Amino acid sequence: GRTGVITPTAILEPVKVAGTTVSRASLHNEDLIKEKDIRILDKVVVKKAGDIIPEVVNVLVEQRTGEEKEFSMPTECPECGSELVRIEGEVALRCINPECPAQIREGLIHFVSRNAMNIDGLGERVITQLFGENLVRNVADLYKLTKEQVIQLERMGEKSTENLISSIQKSKENSLERLLFGLGIRFIGSKAAKTLAMHFESLENLKNASKEELLAVDEIGEKMADAVITYFHKEEMLDLLNELQELGVNTLYKGPKKVKAEDSDSYFAGKTIVLTGKLEQLSRNDAKAQIEALGGKLTGSVSKNTDLVIAGEAAGSKLTKAQELNIEVWNEEQLMGELKK
Ligand SMILES: [Zn+2]
Repeated sequence: GRTGVITPTAILEPVKVAGTTVSRASLHNEDLIKEKDIRILDKVVVKKAGDIIPEVVNVLVEQRTGEEKEFSMPTECPECGSELVRIEGEVALRCINPECPAQIREGLIHFVSRNAMNIDGLGERVITQLFGENLVRNVADLYKLTKEQVIQLERMGEKSTENLISSIQKSKENSLERLLFGLGIRFIGSKAAKTLAMHFESLENLKNASKEELLAVDEIGEKMADAVITYFHKEEMLDLLNELQELGVNTLYKGPKKVKAEDSDSYFAGKTIVLTGKLEQLSRNDAKAQIEALGGKLTGSVSKNTDLVIAGEAAGSKLTKAQELNIEVWNEEQLMGELKK
């Protein structure tokens, strides 16, 4: 994976589970393999956790033939051969070679993925080819790709080449949070990236932020703050970011601005608001962004400190709790009315 973690995976004889064919299941770590005593060539029971992620439930020990072999984790990275390390306090084994090709490739796949730079037509297959052909070694190289280079890839025609180049170019316009998430800073998921982008408004400001300034941001904790500081202290990362900027990649936040409660005359200003249930007219993220832009603060759970609950379709326990606590409840119509004011 892109953080260098080695994850053992069960390669299965393909089997239909809940409508799709399953041929791999993550085994997470060595402890789990030991605990379930899973061996190579075992017959196992597979289920989908949460109906999505395939999982090995148990081994059919009574069906063993004696051919099964115990599995042990490698001591060296299967991709680059560096010695694997176990970081204190973590179960996972990690390759810590910063030049490990597997990490670089996975990092590129992450960079172009939907919640990051969202580059259409650049999936795992194309990235693996670009990387294999030595055309792309880091994320900046993506922006230097030429038509001549792309068209020589497998299954790439004139039209798909043009589309790919144009979606790469288009991604330069993305708002800062996509770039931040795409960089793969440890502990910074897409939500934290958005929070940071909205708060600091530019990459420049974020780069220069002190730990205190980071910790003062809602939802940014110690681990995240440290990870951000560490990231922006690495010379090679700063070089990479400069290069991206020179290539024309946007480093400013373009989303709705978070307004200070006292500067907003909206009903939402300064209020602690909970959104629950399904909205019909806008996505939850859009609703959140717009409410925040009007100075409202969204939280995840209803308490006596909640000022307002906005309940969409099929709202459940949060709505019940709001009613018990006598908190004001709005429906989607009322929300839309206030947003349009
Ligand atoms: Zn490696």
